[in-house]
Amino acid sequence: MVRRALITGGAGFLGSHLAERLLEDGCEVICMDNLLTGTIDNIVHLLGQDGFTFVKQDVTQFIHVAGPLDFILHFASPASPIDYLELPIQTLKVGSLGTHKALGLAKEKGARFLLASTSETYGDPQVHPQPETYWGNVNPVGPRGVYDEAKRFAEAMTMAYHRYHGVETRIVRIFNTYGPRMRLDDGRALPAFMGQALRGESMTVFGDGSQTRSFCYVDDLVTGILTLLNSDEAEPTNIGNPGEFTILQFAEKVRELCGSKSDIVHQPLPVDDPKVRRPDISKAQRVLGWEPKIQLEEGLKLTLPYFQERVRADNA
Ligand code: UDP
Repeated sequence: MVRRALITGGAGFLGSHLAERLLEDGCEVICMDNLLTGTIDNIVHLLGQDGFTFVKQDVTQFIHVAGPLDFILHFASPASPIDYLELPIQTLKVGSLGTHKALGLAKEKGARFLLASTSETYGDPQVHPQPETYWGNVNPVGPRGVYDEAKRFAEAMTMAYHRYHGVETRIVRIFNTYGPRMRLDDGRALPAFMGQALRGESMTVFGDGSQTRSFCYVDDLVTGILTLLNSDEAEPTNIGNPGEFTILQFAEKVRELCGSKSDIVHQPLPVDDPKVRRPDISKAQRVLGWEPKIQLEEGLKLTLPYFQERVRADNA
């Protein structure tokens, strides 16, 4: 029997890659998105493909899907610091009301539910690297609080549906991920640096650039998420690449790969910007037998052609 999956946020960066992989695996995919931060450009190659349907809908409203559903992957949310600063109420609503609606649908359909959570649930961490057992250090009233707290609420809601209603649930805590289809203007480090390097503009490193991040290539992340989906693990699981770099090192790597002569300028560090971040993936290795395969230089090379094309299109 063909399995059917609903992906909320299916026209976003991660949603569209998941849709592609599930279709390849022989699944039917219903992609739901209100196109607030997602775009049809990400799924245009899937429209008209057998087994793929797009529905434009805001998941904070009642969700109706006709027919059976085996999986619901809840990926709808603004997810870059610039986006959730510009869309604070929508971010809170999709994490809370949207998660409630998507869980209600999972209960109704007897579908397995997977929540896209985030390393932001650890806030500015005081434990390094971050294991799933760490409860985090989040400022609820700072500018990032709208995203961090919405996702923490979404995790709590997911566990409640699991424990109280017996819904089969999975929670992935996603660490920084990059690859084709990130929006050039979403303000994240990778699109900002690649865009700036390719245009020969100054590269904007926030603070002194000593803060660290650990970057996972999107194909590795998708494999990890689908492995988790097919496992029995209901407790949150980190998926990410533990290779850790300072943001200054990261900017320099991007500049070198782009063959760019851009200079690096420093700008103020955003409020509550985490000083360090690196996933402890020992649980994913142990329980899922998963670990990332694509290291930063290779992943950046795989990503470059996409941004070269975006910058060309912008200039035209
Ligand atoms: N960053 C930067 N310059 C930029 C964009 C981001 O130095 O133009 C920094 C940002 O302050 C953070 C890191 O890069 O320390 C990663 O930022 P991103 O927005 O990609 O994700 P975050 O991990 O903060 O959610």
